[in-house]
Amino acid sequence: MKPHTTTEKHIVSLSASLAPITPEMHTWAEQSVFLKWGVLSRGKIHCLDCGHAWKPESQKQSLKFTKCTQCKGKLKMHGCNQVYFKEIEYSAVVTVQADFQVVRIICSTKQMKKNCLPSYYHKEVMQHWISQKGEVRTMSLSTNVFSQAYDAWQYYSPLEIRPKDFQNSPKYRISPYRVYPRLKVLPDLKRNGFKRAFYNIAPQVVLSSLLKDPISETLLKTGQVSWLRYYLHSHDQHIRLNWQAVKICLKNKYTVSDFGIWEDYIELLRWFKKDTGSALLVCPENLNQEHDKLVQRKRELQRKKYLKEMRAEIQQAQTLYAQEKKQFFGLCFSEAGITISVLENVTEFMQEGDSLKHCVFTNEYFKKKDSLLFSARIDNTPVETIEVSLSKMEIAQCRGLKNNYSKHHKVILNLMKKNLYQIRSRMKKQKAVKA
Ligand SMILES: [Zn+2]
Repeated sequence: MKPHTTTEKHIVSLSASLAPITPEMHTWAEQSVFLKWGVLSRGKIHCLDCGHAWKPESQKQSLKFTKCTQCKGKLKMHGCNQVYFKEIEYSAVVTVQADFQVVRIICSTKQMKKNCLPSYYHKEVMQHWISQKGEVRTMSLSTNVFSQAYDAWQYYSPLEIRPKDFQNSPKYRISPYRVYPRLKVLPDLKRNGFKRAFYNIAPQVVLSSLLKDPISETLLKTGQVSWLRYYLHSHDQHIRLNWQAVKICLKNKYTVSDFGIWEDYIELLRWFKKDTGSALLVCPENLNQEHDKLVQRKRELQRKKYLKEMRAEIQQAQTLYAQEKKQFFGLCFSEAGITISVLENVTEFMQEGDSLKHCVFTNEYFKKKDSLLFSARIDNTPVETIEVSLSKMEIAQCRGLKNNYSKHHKVILNLMKKNLYQIRSRMKKQKAVKA
């Protein structure tokens, strides 16, 4: 897009005066960001780095890695018998222009073919311009919109200023494999704790954050690299919200085994209105265990609350249910440790749905006039729930956990079928009484 605002125009003019990427930088990239490859072709190992080819002494030599007998390079063996292929890697040059911190992203391609020296192609594809306040604007090449890859660069397009929301694009998050060792950084960054290392976080992300966010500054200054990485990388982090608790962890030198679980746990503490300023609570010895305990407790409380809210409704449903199905109450048959009995209470529908995780309660099967529901249990634990159609006098469905069949499915079906006559006889009785 064309630069419109003063800042955009300023960045575009500064970009034009940036020194070009030097041949030394390209050579450095060729040596530092790529693997060396070997390939086995017609019984010979070919080094795709120096072009040398030789017969391996044993089959073993042609496994995963091998050493070139000429250039002594450690070669990764290419899986298939391919004699031409390319590798693409990113690197970055970090520099300063006027008052801006600049991160220049270079995309390098290495083309390899047996019996040839590799050839390289380098292209600067993005420039991230970071102001002293940590705001970032990016200039980038265009990409091929019809490609499935988000980084299919159009190498002959110019670097153009991109809108502010470019930071939401996956291209912005491209993290270079290596950073050119001769860095230039703004003095503010040194003051905020930057010591030339990026800890596998994209430089544009670390540097802009260090300029605008005291949380990043504190985490870096106190050497909390894993916290920093989680804070800057995770899409679902709440470090800002949990900052007081984080500080307690840092103060107590508490190691968090899983940041996601820990944040979830802090959220639970808050739900229970517990003191998230207490080191005893915030830094549990067994995080997973404490987390699971709270999850369980929360579930039980929510269930109780739901039951309370539902009580009136359930009672009403129970009255109707008993009126309609009373004649079947007490039906129970068992065989080989399996007991099948009719559901007599609406709350039983709920328990059945809870333990087998199906919708017999939520879909209000107790309201279905033509259906009679049974629970098949072993040691009083529900295994499958059975629905019998009263008009057809047949089994409509019989399902276990998450609507799947249990391993006792066949036995349960047989036992139920054998006893359908008992249901029928109670229906006749009812009719007889009425008559
Ligand atoms: Zn070689």
